[in-house]
Amino acid sequence: MSKNFKAELVGCFGQPVAENPTGVMQEAAFRAAGLDWRYLTVEVGPENLADAMRGVRAFGMRGLNLTIPHKVAVIDHLDELTPAARLIGAVNTIVRRGDRLVGDNTDGKGFLRGMRQDAGVEPSGKRIVLLGAGGAARAVAAELLLAGAADVLVVNRRVERGERMTADLKASAQGPIRFEPWVGTYSVPKETDIFVNATSIGLYPDVDAVPAVSLAEACCLVADAVFNPPETGLLRMAREQGLPTLDGLSMLVYQGVIGFQLWTGQDPDEGVMKRALAEALEA
Ligand code: NDP
Repeated sequence: MSKNFKAELVGCFGQPVAENPTGVMQEAAFRAAGLDWRYLTVEVGPENLADAMRGVRAFGMRGLNLTIPHKVAVIDHLDELTPAARLIGAVNTIVRRGDRLVGDNTDGKGFLRGMRQDAGVEPSGKRIVLLGAGGAARAVAAELLLAGAADVLVVNRRVERGERMTADLKASAQGPIRFEPWVGTYSVPKETDIFVNATSIGLYPDVDAVPAVSLAEACCLVADAVFNPPETGLLRMAREQGLPTLDGLSMLVYQGVIGFQLWTGQDPDEGVMKRALAEALEA
């Protein structure tokens, strides 16, 4: 019987990247599926991205994740974008199809899957307030519009960034999206169904930071994109007010689940991925 000692390679490029836990959950899922695949977490600076992407082609890597600061810059090194990546204007996942590298974006899809599976909430027809206008917010907003949300209200500190994101998505997704500047403490309106923090407020090491928002009027699902720590100050505040919550681990796990499916063509054991991630972040 012939033997095969060659592993298939995927990975992640970013800077900083050392605290990114995605590799732990992907490798746990590869092992559970009996696949001889490796996930390489590699520190790549902006000046080395072009060479690193030539390396991806030279090594025949099956796919890749991108994190800060490469999600937009990597587009120049790809052969094709999926409609979602084009809409969002950023790539977090690459899939190799033959010799072609195809850029996709699974952040928003991961968030929506978590909302459906873990919180039991269907975004179609819902009124959403989305705090933030960075990469994560763009991905979440684009998928909410594609899923048929009734209203996406973007609230952001920097007006120009919030207006640009809203105008871009209104033109490309043709959905009900609008913008309000974030001034002082933002009171989440009572008709809101879902409130999402897609800013980096509360992210380690600044774990005591909480976005200046009031949930006093609200009776909505409160979701946070921040996954480190999983229980952010915002989610604690929401829980103390009796509101349902959805943490950033859910978004991270499901974007990983979708990545695994795109790369291997198989369904991973989601429980294995969740446990591996939770253990990696606790350790
Ligand atoms: P960006 O740097 O692209 O955007 C950051 C956003 O946070 C901007 O809207 C910025 O506002 C806002 N912000 C940051 N600090 C403040 C502050 N002090 N006051 C008000 N607004 C602030 O980051 P990303 O969009 O890539 O990431 C955002 C968060 O989402 C991070 O915590 C990241 O870890 C998380 N994330 C989680 C994922 C998951 O799978 N769970 C996936 C991807 C991201 P302004 O424009 O005014 O500067």
